[in-house]
Amino acid sequence: MNCCDLTPAHVRAIAPYLPGKPISELARELGLAEADIVKLASNENPLGPSPLALAAAQDALYDMALYPDGAGFALKAKLAAKWKVSASQIVLGNGSNDVLDMAARAFLAPGTTSVYAQHAFAVYSIATQTVGAHGVSVPARDYGHDLVAMRAAIRDDTRVLWIANPNNPTGTFLPWAEVEAFLETVPPQVLVVLDEAYGEYLPVAERCDTAAWLARFPNLLIVRTFSKAYGLAGLRVGYGLCSIEVADLLNRVRHPFNVNAPALAAAEAALDDVDFLARSYALNAAGMAQLAAGLSALGVDGVPSKGNFLLAKVGDAARINSELLKRGVIVRPVANYGLPEFLRISVGLAGQNARFLDALKACL
Ligand SMILES: *Cc1c(COP(=O)(O)O)cnc(C)c1O
Repeated sequence: MNCCDLTPAHVRAIAPYLPGKPISELARELGLAEADIVKLASNENPLGPSPLALAAAQDALYDMALYPDGAGFALKAKLAAKWKVSASQIVLGNGSNDVLDMAARAFLAPGTTSVYAQHAFAVYSIATQTVGAHGVSVPARDYGHDLVAMRAAIRDDTRVLWIANPNNPTGTFLPWAEVEAFLETVPPQVLVVLDEAYGEYLPVAERCDTAAWLARFPNLLIVRTFSKAYGLAGLRVGYGLCSIEVADLLNRVRHPFNVNAPALAAAEAALDDVDFLARSYALNAAGMAQLAAGLSALGVDGVPSKGNFLLAKVGDAARINSELLKRGVIVRPVANYGLPEFLRISVGLAGQNARFLDALKACL
């Protein structure tokens, strides 16, 4: 009998998060130069970071002997102005995953449940299981959230309901009017986590100022990230917008100094770089069209996506994935999401998208 034998069963039951394969790992395995490998597996920004964010992070490194501002005063001030909320309604996270995890730790416990959609982001179930709560997975409709079924899945012991819009890995999107109407029907004792990790990739006409809903829905937690369109995935910074009461609870379980100093500085600068954000959006729109057209030319069905990635139905995805890897192309298998016939491809630069399409053609 050792310490591991006595781990709680709910911890043992967790299926670990499967990240995209690192470029360095495949390079070692194939004996290839890292520069010859294309990674379209983690929904990262193919433009890299904003130059303003990079400069700000570099400056902040000089202070690395000091603890960062644990309250994130300056970044919160900027976010408060952007979203027209008070700074006390903002919770900063070490990536938005950290905020998702705080929500689980503050609102769930053994004997409670959380509700999420089949094929929804894996962290919802992991965060739920971590605290010994029970996750209720609601069958998807057309690969996306079935809000009617999700409403019906809410039980007396439900404390959290998760919605990713657009969703990862499916890229599906619910019109905001449907989400708003749904929120009207959710009992106030259920925290609704609205994960908008890909919000910056929505066409302007399909965006919505959901922060304005906070005044009406004190049980709403909006989660956003700097990892995708802002190009800061490696620094780990995201945030939640919510009522002051929810923020207060999340801050109780938040690790002190959870967001490091270069990340705080870079995020602040990234918010100012509207030009970079516009370029990221435009590159993604063009790359998405290129991938969709390329897949269709190969006779491969895709799931229409509003994110910076899309699902391609390739059949034996495990085989195709290993063939792609041999050709130096890393994409994401999603069998662990219950989608064994699909691969998820992140939108890259035009040349990277073309490399993927050529490699796919060769292994179909
Ligand atoms: C990528 C992603 C996130 C962001 O994760 P970070 O921790 O901010 O890097 C959150 N939610 C979803 C659905 C995502 O796909």
